[in-house]
Amino acid sequence: MTETVYQVLARKWRPQRFAELAGLEHIARTLQNAIRANRVGHAFLFTGTRGVGKTSAARILAKALNCRRGPAPEPCNQCGNCLAVTAGNAADVIEIDGASNRGVGEIRLLRDNVTYLPQTSPYKIYIIDEVHMLTPEAFNALLKTLEEPPAHIKFIMATTDAHKVPMTILSRCQRFDFGRLTGATIAATLTEIGRREDLTFAAGTVELLAREARGSMRDALSLLDQVRSYAGDMIAVEDLRIALGLIEARHNFGLLEKLVKGDLGGAIFLVDELERAGVDLKKFVEDFLFYLRDVLFLKISGELKKLLGIGADDIARLEPLLAERSLAYWQQLFDLWQTHYIKIKASQSPRLTLESSLVELGMARDLQPLGPLLERLEGHLSQASAFARPANPSVLSSEPRRVREAVAKAEVRKAASAPGRLGAGSWSGERGPRPSSAAPEMPPEPPPFVYDDLSRSSSVSDDAGPTPAAAPSRFIAAPDPVAPPASFRSETVGGGDCSGSAGGKDFGSPQVLNQTVPPANLELQWRDFLVFVAAREARLGALLQRSRREVGAAERLRIKVAPHARLLLDNPGARSDLLALWAEFLGHAECVELELLELKPGGETSGPVRNGGGSRRPLPSKEEIFNDPSIRFISDRFGGRVVEIKARRP
Ligand SMILES: [Zn+2]
Repeated sequence: MTETVYQVLARKWRPQRFAELAGLEHIARTLQNAIRANRVGHAFLFTGTRGVGKTSAARILAKALNCRRGPAPEPCNQCGNCLAVTAGNAADVIEIDGASNRGVGEIRLLRDNVTYLPQTSPYKIYIIDEVHMLTPEAFNALLKTLEEPPAHIKFIMATTDAHKVPMTILSRCQRFDFGRLTGATIAATLTEIGRREDLTFAAGTVELLAREARGSMRDALSLLDQVRSYAGDMIAVEDLRIALGLIEARHNFGLLEKLVKGDLGGAIFLVDELERAGVDLKKFVEDFLFYLRDVLFLKISGELKKLLGIGADDIARLEPLLAERSLAYWQQLFDLWQTHYIKIKASQSPRLTLESSLVELGMARDLQPLGPLLERLEGHLSQASAFARPANPSVLSSEPRRVREAVAKAEVRKAASAPGRLGAGSWSGERGPRPSSAAPEMPPEPPPFVYDDLSRSSSVSDDAGPTPAAAPSRFIAAPDPVAPPASFRSETVGGGDCSGSAGGKDFGSPQVLNQTVPPANLELQWRDFLVFVAAREARLGALLQRSRREVGAAERLRIKVAPHARLLLDNPGARSDLLALWAEFLGHAECVELELLELKPGGETSGPVRNGGGSRRPLPSKEEIFNDPSIRFISDRFGGRVVEIKARRP
């Protein structure tokens, strides 16, 4: 009986051609084009996380260059030169492990050897793995060779830490960044290898392995090796849990659902169930964090599905739950879980810490309903402002709800008459007004979170609440006493009867929407919008940092942009991009307005910039301070209040 040596999957199925480099098509194409055009550089740097295919790509490139039928865009993998590289014993392809040959001696030896011509191939190719491990002296010695390489020499260096490679080396290399592979790419490769190896995967196993591999193909195949030696050729989700300690997607979903629905008891039961089943709770908490990240991505855009580690079935199961909450909610949940994750990870008794975290999260849900918070805010505002306060407190407490209803009614009505919409992403389906046929089918309004947004209130049916005309006038922003500043841009899209608000100078115009949006909702909408922009157009998102939204109407974005974002004022392209995003965010393009003003340097905490203000700025009023987004955020989050206002000496 002959015994065959088991070869691990990662080696057995190592890519041997450019076409087999899954998820690295852009790199393969660039290298192949260089070979076709006979413009192959003499030094390459392949950088990226472990197990994504850097060494495989280096060997394929070496074979393509030294193939007896080449240099060719693909190696033949049949000639002596190709086979020798695959077997790792090619005379002219020298692989050096930078981690164990890091001294100047080794590199000097290399330097002496480069002068000899290759034996059987066109090129002598050095593949230096983990090149960042070389000592500074070794880098210096290498640099000499890189500066004046003989024509028959090629260097391919690979590293996980490009930032540790000296600039002098980097600048002499063609650099290729190997990003992490997506879950979908890894899952597809696992499926293909499973097919060739006659493995049977139960539903969900491939996705679970792909997620656990976190972007590394080698890790994915090692995990598959491991589970295969436990389970054989039929692999079930249960095997992954037992052999690798992986957590099934249904447990993650179960916990998420319980958190969203506020089922604290159910969540605690689930933890008990997991622990009985032998799940490592620290691992579970970490896994859930990655799950929440996927959920967040899914909420941001359906197009991000490709980046997720969860399968199509899970996505379908998640979607109704996702629609129940705003992006800000998911962001907040992710953020909170991250904080708890750190605590639980460090805990001696993870179960206790996890349980207390769940209780905290469950209570946070009850602590921050929007209504009372708005009332508190209103309390602050009315104490500070000169506006009259109604005598009857019950009128006051019912107002925020009425205001939202009024807005919702106006929006639903507008939507019914709006024929076209901008944007086909997941946003347009849930933001702003819904088609009137869908609106009444929404469930009645549950207790909202503090970060709930306007879209939520569109669930209110059309026959409730007062008419918009009866909405309180206290929410009208005081007319800005400023004369139009020097830098001022205003743009509008949509048509119809928006004329009342065109031109950007009618802050308190008699338009329904202008009157009925409470400032707190606008602030929430603004924060959601910032997250939205950052996710879509990182550059615009960065420009909007430290910008401020002026209180106005829900449809109108009146922003004071910080000095670093003057580009927005000067560049019509950037402005129209922003306007398009704003329309997409609202879910319609009607009566959508964008108006940009320049925030004077240092004016962020001051009141409106007055004409001829010059050297002395007046102290901001209490109301302006309460309205400042950062102050409001802090008081929302921690229930703080402004005690004293002091001017900072210049
Ligand atoms: Zn060949």
